[in-house]
Amino acid sequence: MSQTSYGPGVEKYIEAAKKQIALREKILARVKKHKFDTLAVHGLYTVEEALDLNQGSIIEPLYMATSQAYRDSAELEAALSYLIPTWCYTRIANPTTYYLEWMLALLEGYAAGADTSCVVTASGMSAIASAVDPFLVEQKGGPAKINLVSSIQVYGGTFQQFSVRKQQERGIDVRWVRHPHDLEEWKAAIDEGTRLLYVEAPSNPQQAFCDVKALADLAHAHEIPLIFDATCATPALLRPIAHGADIVVHSLSKTATSSGMAIGGALISRKPVVTRVKNDSPLFKESFAEYVKFLPYRDNGPAASPFNALMALNDLRTLRSKMDLFSRNTQTVAEFLEKHPKVYQVDYLGLPSYHLHALAERYLKLVDSDDGKGNEVNRYGHLMSFRIDGPPENARRVFDAFKLIFRATDLGRVKSVATIPAVSTHLQQGEEARRAADVPPQLIRLCVGAEDPADIIADLDQALKTL
Ligand SMILES: *Cc1c(COP(=O)(O)O)cnc(C)c1O
Repeated sequence: MSQTSYGPGVEKYIEAAKKQIALREKILARVKKHKFDTLAVHGLYTVEEALDLNQGSIIEPLYMATSQAYRDSAELEAALSYLIPTWCYTRIANPTTYYLEWMLALLEGYAAGADTSCVVTASGMSAIASAVDPFLVEQKGGPAKINLVSSIQVYGGTFQQFSVRKQQERGIDVRWVRHPHDLEEWKAAIDEGTRLLYVEAPSNPQQAFCDVKALADLAHAHEIPLIFDATCATPALLRPIAHGADIVVHSLSKTATSSGMAIGGALISRKPVVTRVKNDSPLFKESFAEYVKFLPYRDNGPAASPFNALMALNDLRTLRSKMDLFSRNTQTVAEFLEKHPKVYQVDYLGLPSYHLHALAERYLKLVDSDDGKGNEVNRYGHLMSFRIDGPPENARRVFDAFKLIFRATDLGRVKSVATIPAVSTHLQQGEEARRAADVPPQLIRLCVGAEDPADIIADLDQALKTL
């Protein structure tokens, strides 16, 4: 901050805020000792927060107001100079989204051996743009052309954002890695112009996976960050920061808000991140999510709706037990499909026959579970895909015959949903890119919900009988 002296009365507010900051630090230290389920239920919304600030409400209140009122010009000045804790205006911050940000920072940072910060956004796509864009700026004396290296096995919207918005429109070289589990492919793509590595695992829909720690180590050897889309795993199964990732992005619209009642995104960063990009703000490196929140996010405006934040908070409370249930149901369904004569391939990380099973087994574990021998149990999430024998029309016939499973470009729900990615999520990217990403028209993506798996199997069975 260039300003050194403030108006009369500002100091008084800074002093008063110190007490509030100290109390929050004390609460934070206490809360950090909680187990995952306790964090997911309460986050930072403690009894003190309820009684002192929110009329005793046991649930985080929904603050729909656009803006905060101040006592006088001195408090206004202190707030807008970021000298005191404030929320100010909902595009910048909001009390309800504040609790969600802390919840996610704590869950992603759980047993991770690092401090974390978080900013929530209007959607997963805006979280991705917010995470990636600050690194993609040209710098004096830097390489003439900058690039990012990304797995090609990413969500269709991410592929579009990188290939159209960044490569075609802005001239940023986007280098695709076809097999993210192959470290050599990553190595070959990195050079002095590389600003970041980007990976999604497990990927939607292909079930790509990677050696998280090895990839983070590779990124750090080149002084660049690893940005990780962990939407499908959720922090209940994988916390990439614990394995070295710098920044985690989520679509909160999916499993995190499994009731399907809100769109949202999140960016959670390790303190500090590894980068060779120079930035005037010390927060850029020290607390990247806060940097994004206080600066580019404030200026670009991808703020989350407080209502959606509350929906996400509500669903996150039972995340661990839901991921356990969803994963077990999906395993049962995948085992059924694997034996079905009309299905020629089932891609699910939980199947021992799947080529990346052993790699996923090392990383995808239900947090705070116990197999009786002191180890966490493996759980692989609820996204899978299967491929139907014969021409693409066969896959459509089976898909169109579902009676219980919803046809929707959606995933992560308590209700089972299916789509054909080649005609939906991955339509825009064209046939060649779909082939590169291994998304053939015979592939049906299925995300299994909380129903009794016997009923889902019965629905799949009757649909497959139409062939
Ligand atoms: C849906 C999805 C996104 C995009 O999230 P939105 O909230 O729809 O913007 C990003 N990554 C993955 C893995 C997704 O499934």
